[in-house]
Amino acid sequence: MCFFDQHRFVCGDWKWGHFRQHCNREYRLGETCGMKLIMQTVPVGKKCKLCENIDVKMRRRAAEVERVNRWQREGNKFQASIKKSMEGVKNLDAEIYELGCERNRRLQGIGSQEW
Ligand SMILES: [Zn+2]
Repeated sequence: MCFFDQHRFVCGDWKWGHFRQHCNREYRLGETCGMKLIMQTVPVGKKCKLCENIDVKMRRRAAEVERVNRWQREGNKFQASIKKSMEGVKNLDAEIYELGCERNRRLQGIGSQEW
């Protein structure tokens, strides 16, 4: 079991940081045994990539919805634009949902921690 830093993001997610220390099992030079233990936790003053990505998409979605609301107040003039925008919102919803699932998988420790 080799020791690594743990980087903890403000959103509660974390990732492995720098390698710190080999355990006392015999390994070839520069190789870790593959079992990771936490040496120290380093707070990171921002959200992880995944959560930042979700935030970006949420903002884009909100802007899209706002646009649709504005167009709808104009009556029938922007039907085509509204339809297109609604499609965009639907796509964003799907992407946000996917990212949320991805985050859950990571919180459960399944899959890779390389992000
Ligand atoms: Zn996160």
